[in-house]
Amino acid sequence: MKVLGIFFSANLSFNCHFNYVAKKALKRLGYLRALGGSYWGANTVHLLRLVNACIRSIREFGAEVTSYAGSTSWRKLKVVHHNCLLFAAGLPRWTPIPVMLAETGEIRLRDRKDLRKVIFRVQADQGRIQWESTKYFRSFTHLPKTTKTQLLPRRKEILLTRLRTRSLPTKAILFKVGLESSPLCRQCGIVDSNDHLLLTCNVFEQLRNNLGASLGIGAFHYDWICTISTFNRRVCSAVLHFLQSTNLF
Ligand SMILES: [Zn+2]
Repeated sequence: MKVLGIFFSANLSFNCHFNYVAKKALKRLGYLRALGGSYWGANTVHLLRLVNACIRSIREFGAEVTSYAGSTSWRKLKVVHHNCLLFAAGLPRWTPIPVMLAETGEIRLRDRKDLRKVIFRVQADQGRIQWESTKYFRSFTHLPKTTKTQLLPRRKEILLTRLRTRSLPTKAILFKVGLESSPLCRQCGIVDSNDHLLLTCNVFEQLRNNLGASLGIGAFHYDWICTISTFNRRVCSAVLHFLQSTNLF
């Protein structure tokens, strides 16, 4: 039974309503995908605004009533929410959810559905508290203060976003998702993580020296490079030059 735009079932599980909303939201996300991809299109900040304007409204419509549904029912909308954020930020599917939320400045859907928190504008505090309680907090100290990035072409913006979120498709990550047979770097014989690529891999020693020369420093720190490349145009183009010269991404 549909009353004022919400489907009610006999057991008040709202499954029918969530199925309807998820289908409608995914359809709209499909239209929005025409505005940007991983290598082209609008910037993250604009895509996030569009996603929030077009999809958040239908996803959270009637949340005062539907928030009483169980977490299993909300899972469908959670998937839609995560798909929207991955699309807007240009992040790959293997990005950890807390990292994705910190990068995009969003909060978990199960907190958003409690509209009181949104109405009283505590979203930023809520996001910070959630982020600091995750296991990723200590490894990503540069997030989320690096979310307000300068506007760059989509391709470059996504390279930097993936560097910040340690989701560049290195062998360690591809091995994790079953796309590589080994996580080890062929040259160095150690785990080929994003940190390894940027800081220690022997293959890119010359490129790293060039990067160090253009930044005027000898030793690198991952968090420092991520933070400074967000705010400093010269460092940003030097880091992008390094990443593009690897011919891996
Ligand atoms: Zn290596």
